[in-house]
Amino acid sequence: MWTLDLCEFVLPGLKGLFYSPQVEMACSVVHAVLKKVAVVVRRTSKGTRDKEKEQKIKVCTSELKDIKDMTSDVIHAVKAGKKNNTEDPVSMKLVLKELQLALGTFLSNEEFLTTLLSTGLPDTDLPKRTYLITVVKTDNGEEIYNERFRNIPNGEHAEERMLNDEDFLHAVDDHHNVKIILTSNYSPCSKCARKLISFYKKRERKIRKFIIQFPFLFKIQEEENRSGLRRLNEVGVTLRAMNADSWLKVGIDFMDVEDKERITERDKKNSL
Ligand SMILES: [Zn+2]
Repeated sequence: MWTLDLCEFVLPGLKGLFYSPQVEMACSVVHAVLKKVAVVVRRTSKGTRDKEKEQKIKVCTSELKDIKDMTSDVIHAVKAGKKNNTEDPVSMKLVLKELQLALGTFLSNEEFLTTLLSTGLPDTDLPKRTYLITVVKTDNGEEIYNERFRNIPNGEHAEERMLNDEDFLHAVDDHHNVKIILTSNYSPCSKCARKLISFYKKRERKIRKFIIQFPFLFKIQEEENRSGLRRLNEVGVTLRAMNADSWLKVGIDFMDVEDKERITERDKKNSL
């Protein structure tokens, strides 16, 4: 079981790995550990008022920022050809890219939630980023997967990245009667709707409930996006607008939010 104390203990040691000649292996280890750490920090920071815990989270966050800087240095060195002591530089670059994305996702939790809250508010620009929180729960309500994704600009959509995530597929395939909850700042586009339907149809018997919730409908004036949502609904996926309760479940206490009225207004409009 990963705890905050364990994170505080392990993180400083990760930095040493970057000095190892096995950059690729080092990155894989860092990546694997960070996935665990991210879950612990998210779980702990939810509504914590505990001074000691807050301090530990601060220490962990500062360690993560150091690791992020070191990753950037390694990426530069690899690009400049100064650190190329691996059999397969291409796969190493992929590991580094993945690592940087994982760190970026983790460190920008604040940005993530702010974007979710503000997408589609009147008089605000629509964000170019799609953010996605994926939670998988077992039959007895135990959370077995909790991960965040964002789209790669001009590349994979957040939903596609989730569908390619091995840990996500394992969480669903290795259990029975799971409940999947996706929270995103946009409803799925037509292409992602197709992919989500094909994922769901293959596992219909394993999935007890599949919910997709969002504060804003993505380009709903386009017919193909509308029909994508209709088909999701037809195969049995629950689509719904965000509300105070669903915000709380992703870690936002609605009572503390500044723009509360405008957000409630928008969420209400979307639920119609
Ligand atoms: Zn999409």
